[in-house]
Amino acid sequence: MTVPAPPAPVTPLCAALRQLREAGEQLGLDNAVVEALARPHQEVTVHFPVPSTDSGMATFTGHRVQHNLARGPGKGGIRYAPDVDLDEVKALAMWMTWKSALLDIPFGGAKGGVAFDPAGRSSHELEAITRAFTHAISRFIGPELDIPAPDVGTDERTMAWMMDAYARSTGQLAPAVVTGKPLVLGGSHGRANATSDGVGVVTLAALAAAGRRPRDGVSAAVQGFGKVGSGLARLYVDAGIAVRLISDRYGAIRNDAGIDVPALQDHVTRAGTVVGFDKADAIEPDSVLTADVTIVVPAAVEGVITAANATAVSAELVIEAANGPTTPEADAILRRRGTTVVPDILANSGGVLVSYFEWVQARQRERWSAERVDRQLRERVLAAWDHVSGQSGKTRTLRQAATAIAVRRVAEAQRLRGLI
Ligand code: GLU
Repeated sequence: MTVPAPPAPVTPLCAALRQLREAGEQLGLDNAVVEALARPHQEVTVHFPVPSTDSGMATFTGHRVQHNLARGPGKGGIRYAPDVDLDEVKALAMWMTWKSALLDIPFGGAKGGVAFDPAGRSSHELEAITRAFTHAISRFIGPELDIPAPDVGTDERTMAWMMDAYARSTGQLAPAVVTGKPLVLGGSHGRANATSDGVGVVTLAALAAAGRRPRDGVSAAVQGFGKVGSGLARLYVDAGIAVRLISDRYGAIRNDAGIDVPALQDHVTRAGTVVGFDKADAIEPDSVLTADVTIVVPAAVEGVITAANATAVSAELVIEAANGPTTPEADAILRRRGTTVVPDILANSGGVLVSYFEWVQARQRERWSAERVDRQLRERVLAAWDHVSGQSGKTRTLRQAATAIAVRRVAEAQRLRGLI
């Protein structure tokens, strides 16, 4: 007897295209319009050699995809991870287009990545890889063309090297070519924590809409303890939410009385992982997403809530701090089960929003105060939340409403420019 092959995993690109097609149907868009929005404006793959300490020379592969530039220059992060490939970058670039449009930021969507594991690499190697990649894509990026930023595996140091490498390749010192830079190089107050701050604002709004108060027994599980997950865990604790489970790529921990997040942060600074933290129990990483808590936050990578585990999700709220963490099948299951999913393009939009503020400050040679950034972040994320929740309801999920709002804006911009 032959055993049927397990279903192929849903790739991020399949998921992104399905969301677009569904929005197209809801909006009554022509097929030709949907097909135009399904394809990236430009996709670039580069192979570049970098001197390496052990083997003399190693060749790396990187990508930069501009999904859509109808509403403005491309915008989106650069990811360093072993499994980066062109299709993943295309999906992430498409989600950036919708995110900018939903927040009404005058940018299109883009994304980039280099396929390697940055963990354990020396600063010297990371700098060499970043400079070589930036040189290789320097003709395709620019302050009015396509503006990279940090994403998984990259940070403000990466952006400082990119800005400098771009200046050397083009002869133009253009601080607005990247965002997420260190403050002294023209970065913005509030950018480092912008994504987690935005997730925090959206979480409180979603709790209020569900008639819940954070201090009345609300608990959370956070998958990922990187820039976003760690910042968010701190915010949750400050808001009175008990963070009971946290995982990273190496393992997971649980403490039902609430994890002491500042102490965990100290442990992670020393040990490089949440594993081994003595004020919590070690648990199976997979159980974080299905834990008996009020809120589950996937804050790592795509495709982690799938048809295989969605029925076991018991949280009332899934807040997508990562991009694309829920597959379309899982989304349908969660909807049937009455779980509210706050979609990535809304939940994690604080990052690109403050990137936009940084870009504006660079163009105007201005520096905004931390208070101003914080106020504008809150106002714009809440306005987007109000808009999306007002358009959702019995017949439309928050994701369907958010995607439809964004796709309509991009399709309209394309039409007015005569691009379709
Ligand atoms: N990487 C972040 C995101 O996925 C930020 C992108 C940006 O600031 O351009 O939204």
